[in-house]
Amino acid sequence: MTITLPMCSIDFMDTSMSPEERAIAERITELKQELGSRLMILGHHYQRDSIVMHADFIGDSFMLSQMAADSNAEFIVFCGVHFMAESADILTDENQYGMLPNLRAGCSMADMATLPDVESAWTEILAETGLSDPINRVSPGEKPDDGKSYLIPVTYMNSSADLKDFVGRHGGIVCTSSNATGVLNWAFDRAGPNGAVLFFPDQHLGRNTGLSMGIEESVMPTWVPKIGSDKDLKGAKIILWHGFCSVHKRFTVEQVADFRERHPDGLVVVHPECTKETVEVSDANGSTQFIKNYVENLPSGSNVAIGTEINMVARLADSHPDKNIECLDDKICPCSTMYMIHPAYLMDVLEKLVEGEIPNQIIVSEDVQEGSLLALERMLSIKK
Ligand code: SF4
Repeated sequence: MTITLPMCSIDFMDTSMSPEERAIAERITELKQELGSRLMILGHHYQRDSIVMHADFIGDSFMLSQMAADSNAEFIVFCGVHFMAESADILTDENQYGMLPNLRAGCSMADMATLPDVESAWTEILAETGLSDPINRVSPGEKPDDGKSYLIPVTYMNSSADLKDFVGRHGGIVCTSSNATGVLNWAFDRAGPNGAVLFFPDQHLGRNTGLSMGIEESVMPTWVPKIGSDKDLKGAKIILWHGFCSVHKRFTVEQVADFRERHPDGLVVVHPECTKETVEVSDANGSTQFIKNYVENLPSGSNVAIGTEINMVARLADSHPDKNIECLDDKICPCSTMYMIHPAYLMDVLEKLVEGEIPNQIIVSEDVQEGSLLALERMLSIKK
């Protein structure tokens, strides 16, 4: 599959750049030219402008994982966070190298679910609900025709490779905010008559998607690691892991009310990692790519408030001067870990590649490759 996204052009006349920033940008451009088609730089929407300007493709984690899977480039430099570069490594072959410019760029939400905690929750939930483990099915991932009810694990892309492997081995699947509805339908198709889904790590994406599919909140208990469930698990449809994004949790109902008071005709679009209360009072919600398309399709003169990471909101505001675009939270900071990808780190990685070194490589160990690849490939096979 080929996805064509507009590449950002580099404006070296940009007066907001310091001489040092301009020198780094120019050097990155030279190094890119030297590496040519051997190199692909992927940039997440939450990256700062001085990174995005060098990206060959810009997108959300779903789009970028497709780009990595379809690419023949030898070097894939992922300007995003750790789990994204891991997924790129899983989806590419052994002659391709995935790299992260700053190895400290993780994701606090992904860290909220660890393999030992998920394994222990899995055992307890199976015992309490009496559901079956799809690992025992002859063909995990296939639709069961044995009349049994199963617990199907679904992990958000924002999770470590060992959790994706767990999910793959237990007949489950990965999702992103672009395809969560399609993925949950896939999972329910395989859960059997009274089956359920264990969804981790982001409770809000799971809850908001479940509600949008008509699933009652009373059958979506929350599982707190090491403590247990806040509701009876019998009859549950989606068991939500108690994880959250510290950036999206900041958008509130009060901020929406404040914006509507200032702009009675205004529209509010938020990411589904926001709380259900914030999503409920917004006009629309969806992935970063959805938000981008939503804003682009609004008529000139529109007032819109966006509930997502500030770098993306600022870029949308710059690209649409004919619209009043603001961040729902005027005090919001960038995602602190996405912000760890500085142009100097990108330049350093490219310098080393030109010298013949492979720096900052993200290698997913062989013992978790098989299950995680299965879980990712199931996701990529699903239409949104
Ligand atoms: S915005 Fe939230 S979910 Fe995304 S990388 Fe940052 S902390 Fe993780």
